[in-house]
Amino acid sequence: MSKLHISELYKEIYKRFDNLTPIPFDCGEMCGKLCCQGDDESGMYLFPGEARLFSGKENFSVLSTDFEVSGKPVELLVCHGPCKREERPLSCRIFPLIGLYRKGSTLQIIKDPRANFCPLTHPEAKGCLDPEFIKEVRHAFSVLIKIPAVAEFLDALSYILEDYQQLNL
Ligand code: SF4
Ligand code: SF4
Repeated sequence: MSKLHISELYKEIYKRFDNLTPIPFDCGEMCGKLCCQGDDESGMYLFPGEARLFSGKENFSVLSTDFEVSGKPVELLVCHGPCKREERPLSCRIFPLIGLYRKGSTLQIIKDPRANFCPLTHPEAKGCLDPEFIKEVRHAFSVLIKIPAVAEFLDALSYILEDYQQLNL
């Protein structure tokens, strides 16, 4: 069997979120789509190898950042206006969850501490996320951490997530 390119793996993972949302209705109606209100300089980190899926794509820019992993800058995806649902990157599909993973330790799926503007991360929303959504996020990360470049990225990202956790205390 030929080796699956990582971008093909992302496409497979994307598909699994096509019909899955954090809660069983459009939470954007509740908050005015707060997570899609970025400007031309804010966006979401792309996972290693994911940028290839957005290169030259209308309505998206890929920017370099100061966050480096293994000596290479992590790329940021900026969207210019509402996207088509099927075009969303991984970070948007799993939001507001994220994998906290340190190489050699256990994967944890947590509410993204960078996402405290999202009502779904607030204490009063405890227990409201669709268990199927959580399960799918866990599955995606359990596959992705087997890829060395993604494990490196998550290991580095976990330091940032932990800093945010401290700030949120
Ligand atoms: S900010 Fe949270 S509640 Fe609002 S659309 Fe995004 S995920 Fe849903
Ligand atoms: S890519 Fe789409 S889902 Fe993600 S922030 Fe932009 S508009 Fe929202």
